[in-house]
Amino acid sequence: MEQLNTNNKTILGITAHPDDHVCYAGTILKLQKQGYSYVEVVLSDAEESGMIKDGERVVAVEKSEQLNIRWNHEFALARKLLDIKEVHRMKLPNLGIEYSKESVMSLMEIVRRVRPEIALIHHPEDYMSDHIQASYLSLEALKVSSYSFRLDLGKNHRTPRVYYFEGVSPIDADVLVDITEEFSQKIEVLEVYGSQFGDRAHQLIDGTTAYRGYPRRVKHAEAFEIPKNYPQWEIGEMYD
Ligand SMILES: [Zn+2]
Repeated sequence: MEQLNTNNKTILGITAHPDDHVCYAGTILKLQKQGYSYVEVVLSDAEESGMIKDGERVVAVEKSEQLNIRWNHEFALARKLLDIKEVHRMKLPNLGIEYSKESVMSLMEIVRRVRPEIALIHHPEDYMSDHIQASYLSLEALKVSSYSFRLDLGKNHRTPRVYYFEGVSPIDADVLVDITEEFSQKIEVLEVYGSQFGDRAHQLIDGTTAYRGYPRRVKHAEAFEIPKNYPQWEIGEMYD
């Protein structure tokens, strides 16, 4: 067995939409203090979503304006706040993300190149189809990345730690990360997405982090779940 290269302390986040990283932003900011760097794959451009402008919901959203605001303003700012080293936009249709072999292979190629130690992915029991499909796609790509096949698409790599992150729907929490120190920065990232979130988003973020913080005996925590069909291989020191 090859020992994990501890210099490659990389976290890979795989999300359906450009604002989904708010869910686990506190954990990214915390791990960066421990020397981790963060890379993100965004499966869709979210070209079809609704928009809030000057406090009001826009009735008919113009796609090019939407894309400009979401990527060139909001995501660009969030990228700075979260210090995202690399961003891969897969440009799958939003509201139309579907599991496909082709997308699994494209994602696998990225996983094998980035070679993360930790991957954060959507939970399959979510309220939204894009998130559910993203979860299936991500987990399968992470699994097949470790297989000794299609080595023309990169040397195989098993990501030692994969976690589902918590969105709107409560998950079966296996890991609670204390993000009390990072909480105000998480809120800054949330507030970048002014076209998407109104005040109600604060209710969600304040509520879930406070609820998850209670059993952790801290003010704010983020919850993660270990996929049942992607067990961690070791206790203690991890190997590649
Ligand atoms: Zn989303």
